[in-house]
Amino acid sequence: MLLEELLQNLNGIRTDALAALQSAKTDAEIEDVKNRTLGRSGAVTALREVMAKIPPESKREAGMAFNETKNAIQNALNEARERNASATEAAEAIDVTLPGRRPAAGRLHPLTKTIQECCAIFRRMGFVAVTGPELEDVWHNFDALNAPLNHPSRDPQDTFYMPDGRLLRTQTSAVQIRTMTGMKPPVRIISPGRCYRRDTPDATHGVHFHQIEGLYVDTSVSLADLKSTLMTFAGEYFGREVAVRMRPSFFPFTEPSVECDFSCVMCGGKGCGVCKNSGWLEIAGAGMVNPKVLENVGYDPREVCGFAFGFGLERLAMLKHRIGDLRLFSDNDIRFLHQF
Ligand SMILES: [Zn+2]
Repeated sequence: MLLEELLQNLNGIRTDALAALQSAKTDAEIEDVKNRTLGRSGAVTALREVMAKIPPESKREAGMAFNETKNAIQNALNEARERNASATEAAEAIDVTLPGRRPAAGRLHPLTKTIQECCAIFRRMGFVAVTGPELEDVWHNFDALNAPLNHPSRDPQDTFYMPDGRLLRTQTSAVQIRTMTGMKPPVRIISPGRCYRRDTPDATHGVHFHQIEGLYVDTSVSLADLKSTLMTFAGEYFGREVAVRMRPSFFPFTEPSVECDFSCVMCGGKGCGVCKNSGWLEIAGAGMVNPKVLENVGYDPREVCGFAFGFGLERLAMLKHRIGDLRLFSDNDIRFLHQF
């Protein structure tokens, strides 16, 4: 009677254990089965006590059944552990069919790209790009450019002066002076770069901004050359035909001076919010180089003449990429910068 009970018990434990191991998914589940059966206080171990009470004539049969059950569970445990280990390994292995992760690469700032685009266009027209210092002296920034002593741009309220009297350049024209004093005509350069003015930052003004200026000095240069140069540039930069209109203006550096308007690149000249329904966009200040400036750099104004123009790079980039706020260029917001 005792023997039958023992055999039944062993069978039950074995069936349960094997089923549990079959469905075990984690190491913890497997070890749990082991503890419940072969562990120190497991069900199989507990049956040892019953074994002792088995009558001698049945001991052999009981012992065999006991060992068989133990071995079967032990084998199943080993199998389950192996199966689990290789599944974990497979999960950790590299799946070569997955798409790769791109390393986060930096990219050029939209203004750097605009400078490069502009330089490339002007280079194709024979202009050489030159740069100069952002910390300038008064002679290069104002005097040589014929700015009168009482010109408002010289005021410390508009310009950042250093304790030693130098200043943060207010335009890139200083580079033109540096170039002309260093070489004989013909001169055909563009100078892109950062400039500084004391201004309250808002959507269209900042304390620093970027300009690109052009200068062409030779024996017979005319306003018509200026106009065709700007038209060629505008067409290439905006990728569409752009009309250029000149309005009389005044700058100390040029005589005569003109404001150059481009036909609106948004509406094609029909009138829209960007051009305030005029069909025109104010883009560049320009003119024929003032003979006094030519004299200041040692050129003879009776022999050579030239044109100069300058415009804001931020404005060009804003128009081309439809950017509404100047401050986006210096906020360093990755989400904005990623779009270029
Ligand atoms: Zn428009």
